[in-house]
Amino acid sequence: MAQLKFVDVNKVYPNGYHAVHDFNMEIGDGEFICLVGDSGCGKSTTLRMIAGLEDITSGDFYIDGVRANQMSSRDRGIAMVFQSYALYPHLTVYENLAFGLTLEGVDAEVIEEKVQATAKILGLTDYLERFPRALSGGQCQRVAVGRALIRKVNIFLMDEPLSNLDAKQRVTMRSEIKQIHRSVGATTIYVTHDQTEAMTMSDRIVVMKSGGYVQQIGTPYELYFYPKNLFVAGFIGEPPMNFIRGTVNGGKLEAYGLNIDLTPVVKDVKSIEGRAVVFAFRPEAIKPDKGAASYEIKSKVELTELLGDTTNVYATVGSEEKVNIILKVNPHRAPETGSDFTFYVPHTAAYVYDAETEEIVENDIERR
Ligand code: ADP
Repeated sequence: MAQLKFVDVNKVYPNGYHAVHDFNMEIGDGEFICLVGDSGCGKSTTLRMIAGLEDITSGDFYIDGVRANQMSSRDRGIAMVFQSYALYPHLTVYENLAFGLTLEGVDAEVIEEKVQATAKILGLTDYLERFPRALSGGQCQRVAVGRALIRKVNIFLMDEPLSNLDAKQRVTMRSEIKQIHRSVGATTIYVTHDQTEAMTMSDRIVVMKSGGYVQQIGTPYELYFYPKNLFVAGFIGEPPMNFIRGTVNGGKLEAYGLNIDLTPVVKDVKSIEGRAVVFAFRPEAIKPDKGAASYEIKSKVELTELLGDTTNVYATVGSEEKVNIILKVNPHRAPETGSDFTFYVPHTAAYVYDAETEEIVENDIERR
């Protein structure tokens, strides 16, 4: 296990591209951290700096309190799984899995035990004698994951390891990797563009935005219920959060025929008078009935999608100018396409962001 610490870490590539800006974070022993964000936001670059595969342009990086900027990859105690699984084509699955341990001179008996255990976890038991060319892409990726997991290291680095698997396998592998992490305990940094993967696997998530800017670091719970800015609010959650833009007039949001009193959800409503703001709520946070302390919003249903446990309702708010929203409702009470649908947003589920700074407007709401 290892503790990692980043102090003002920056990466500027030789061509001048500034890929990571002022990365600051402390990662505890055995934590499972996901770096998440759209393609090109600097996730892999950050991972590669941890691995020692990219120089750190400025700032300090520590492993267990020791400055590691110049430490060789080999001395960092890491195992890495890449998107592209670099398996040895001339070795069987068994030999691929055993390779690292064999190099380290581990007893054949111990290797046998570990290979069998790893293969079992990854569903590779029946493929141990096969060569990579006789495996599907998903199976190859499993071998690559297995090869990293089988070695005893302090830090696991994974770069989109599940992206070549189909949806079902991804879900299975997600929990398998979590289970393995729990039993192995190594500090894990996991790169993904998939927010569901990040939400389900992480102890903490780092949300990054293009240009290599960290937006928020927090537990899945914190990011889901307390997104600090519009980017995180829109990135975490599926379907994404609904945004209704408008201007504050007399403490009320005026937009799309709505007249929403912001007093209950903003600490100092005078401070945002006259400003452009974004009123936000999650599709799944709405209620079909007026409970205590909620906003009533009228919408028109454009389309519904039955998913089984819920129905997604695609609707519009506003008469002349319209804004699209998505609502998740109980399938037994789903409105008809084309109908008017009134729903309620509890004050505790409403967010207000400053449209200019994109930061959340100060409030002291407990979101329960
Ligand atoms: P992500 O993993 O989030 O998709 P990367 O860390 O791979 O993003 O890349 C971040 C940015 O840095 C991208 O815009 C990419 O084009 C750029 N980049 C990556 N590698 C290099 C390089 N060797 N030289 C110049 N720019 C690079």
